[in-house]
Amino acid sequence: MTQCAHWRRVPLDLLRQARERSPSGHVDHAVQCQLSEHPTGDHYGFLDDVEYATASWLRWSDNEAALVVLADCPVTSTDAPGESCCLFEKHGGRHTWEEERSE
Ligand SMILES: [Zn+2]
Ligand SMILES: [Zn+2]
Repeated sequence: MTQCAHWRRVPLDLLRQARERSPSGHVDHAVQCQLSEHPTGDHYGFLDDVEYATASWLRWSDNEAALVVLADCPVTSTDAPGESCCLFEKHGGRHTWEEERSE
């Protein structure tokens, strides 16, 4: 299972909004989809943490992109409870700690 290879330039207006919400003020101009490879559905690129347990994400499809604030994925690894997933709640595909394990 590999990471989705899709990249997206962050539209300028959304970049500005994300920076306003970002504690660090640093948001990348382009983001890679953080999901594991998926044949259908929207792509999600991480922008920055917003506050405890939430983060802003760029969600995009072929013809549109939107800024969304999502809760962090609460699912942790049963083998290593300290390892938390870097994705958002109810994401599709694998958790990030599962990908690390398989490599
Ligand atoms: Zn994707
Ligand atoms: Zn997860």
